[in-house]
Amino acid sequence: LHVETQLGDGVAVPVDGNPAHYLISVMRVKPDDIVLLFDGRSGEWAARARDIRKRDLVLECVAQTKAPEQVPDYWLCCAPIRKGRIDLIAEKACELGVARLQPVLTRRAVVDKLNLDRLHAHLVEAAEQCGRTALPDLGSLMKLDALLGDWDASRHLFFADESGGAPLEQTLRAHPGPAAFLVGPEGGFDAQERDAIRATPGAVAVSLGPRILRAETAAIAATSAWMAINGD
Ligand code: SAM
Repeated sequence: LHVETQLGDGVAVPVDGNPAHYLISVMRVKPDDIVLLFDGRSGEWAARARDIRKRDLVLECVAQTKAPEQVPDYWLCCAPIRKGRIDLIAEKACELGVARLQPVLTRRAVVDKLNLDRLHAHLVEAAEQCGRTALPDLGSLMKLDALLGDWDASRHLFFADESGGAPLEQTLRAHPGPAAFLVGPEGGFDAQERDAIRATPGAVAVSLGPRILRAETAAIAATSAWMAINGD
């Protein structure tokens, strides 16, 4: 179960709302039962249930069951796309192991607002499901120019470019180390954006094959490929 409270030895975590309903009414947790908790940065903790009432309970950390997780240094930078599809990206990015999900606003974006709370909830749910204890950082929506302007060239910026780029596998193998994939929106990047990305220090245009993939497919395929080569 994910909680916001920072976990540690003896920390008592009050739980109410939906998580409490799930534990008390669905899982029928009894006093002294053990529930596994994570806060996204302190590994996993076994916590003992106490003070169980109708709608709330307290979980007291008794032992760390997993050390804080090392996540591969990989970011996924992608343009916001329609609701269900960006949710899918968040879920799969978390399962595949990304360290950071960075939404980027581009000129042809069909969507220019993002519900970060909803995306965060998808990351949490995916982490709970896949047994990941370190939550990906979720950046707030930033403009492409700002992202490129601040880019630290020591992080490879793999630009998923459907108009042509270097072959995926050999390019990833030739560029080990911290990386990010940049994937465009439904309508792609415009010519000016393409030039700006290509001119950014650290950028390498990469092809994901001869077919034009939907943005969410490109994001997931690129991340899977990077993780297959560099992840653990
Ligand atoms: N501009 C395109 C069009 O309308 O023909 C479509 C863009 S595509 C749906 C969305 C994003 O996925 C692109 O901006 C690119 O980053 C990525 N993408 C899709 N297919 C790709 C491919 N074959 N190679 C590299 N990137 C791809």
